[in-house]
Parts: sequence; structure tokens; C-alpha cells
Amino acid sequence: MKNKTDHLQESWRLQAGTVIRNFKKRGIEGIYCETGAAATAEICRRIPAGALVGLGGSETIVESGLLAALRGMDIRLLDRYREGIGKEEVDVMRRQGLLSDVFIMSSNAVTADGRLVNIDGTGNRVAALVFGPKQVIVLAGMNKVAAGLDAAMSRARNCAAAANSLRVGMDTPCSHTGFCQDPHCHPPHRVCCQLVVTEASMTPGRITVVLVGESLGY
Ligand code: SF4
Repeated sequence: MKNKTDHLQESWRLQAGTVIRNFKKRGIEGIYCETGAAATAEICRRIPAGALVGLGGSETIVESGLLAALRGMDIRLLDRYREGIGKEEVDVMRRQGLLSDVFIMSSNAVTADGRLVNIDGTGNRVAALVFGPKQVIVLAGMNKVAAGLDAAMSRARNCAAAANSLRVGMDTPCSHTGFCQDPHCHPPHRVCCQLVVTEASMTPGRITVVLVGESLGY
């Protein structure tokens, strides 16, 4: 007999199929993997030896096991998560990532009709998504999928940005209430400075989204 997890997996498989069909109309390639381990293997297989690989800030990349796998590859990894790394070196990597061969990131939200919604503070991650790296691979758990653009925007702010704000220890309104209070949020603490909705890719196949049948990141 099927259990709760089986039904959730089945609904995620169905949703992923819908999203991937809609990605295709937008020039974005979509793949569905049941697990983070399978997604990691698929992504590693796509990266050529010696490639310069940039990383956007992402809990998903760490949690899925992808970062650990990348560290074992024969590539030039811009490893912003390396222990003991300083802020200046991370900033250099952020700039180098804009001209990387492969840029890997997650997405704050993915809409059912195939759009990507992302909010950045510094903006290097969304900049690389828009232009620069020859190939962009987006790894996203099915928990990131939202029915429409409004729901995706809400998810990006009230879930992703609020949790990110707590992670980096910023004194933002959402770090006190758990909800976005945009009109009352200003720099230097505000983590939502750039909002990018990816409607389509003019270069077909430049962006690949690997959806995973697991809850990953936030
Ligand atoms: S309160 Fe500020 S930092 Fe928090 S989600 Fe809203 S805009 Fe972003």
C-alpha cells in the first residue's frame, strides 16, 4: 500500500513533468531526478574536465551532496565554501564566476509555467544567471515549485530571503517576524536588493534546471 511519502513523490513527479514541458517552451532544459544523489551524478556528468566552475550561494548545493562531489572532480572549482576562506577571496570568486564555463546555483522559486524567481543581495548569482557563464545549471528541490508568479515571489521573500536573513545574521524586519515587511526594510541590512524573473533563455539549452524529488534548501 502506498504511504504519504509515495503520494508526495507521485505529485512531485507530475508537477516536474508539467514544469519541464513549460521550460522547453522557454528555451530552458529541464531534468527530473528522484534524489539529490542522482541529481549530483547527472550534474557532475555534464561538467567537462578542467572547466572553471562557479557557485552561487546555496544551501541546496551543500545539502544535496553536490559540493562534496564537485570537490572531488578534475575541475577548477571556485569553492566559496572552503573552510577558512576570507571575504575578499569570496568576492574575487564571485567576479570570476561571471566568466565561468559552468555556473551552478539553486533558484529561490520555480513557477509551474516554467519561470525562475530569484532575489539576491550582492547580485552576483542573478548576474551569472542572466549573462556570462556559458552554461548555467540550476539545482532545485521540488519544495521550490510554486503554482504561479505571485506565489513564487511570496516564497522567494517569506521563505528563502527570510531564512537567508537569519542565516547571515542580518537585522531585517523578517528576521524578527518571519515575514517580509518590504516597506520597512533598507540597506545596509536588507538582503533583497536584486529581483530577477527569468522568463526565457535566448540561447536554447544555456540554462538547465535539475528538479529533485526532495525538499532541499529554502
Ligand atoms: S524584510 Fe527585507 S530582507 Fe526580509 S524578505 Fe523582506 S525585503 Fe527581504
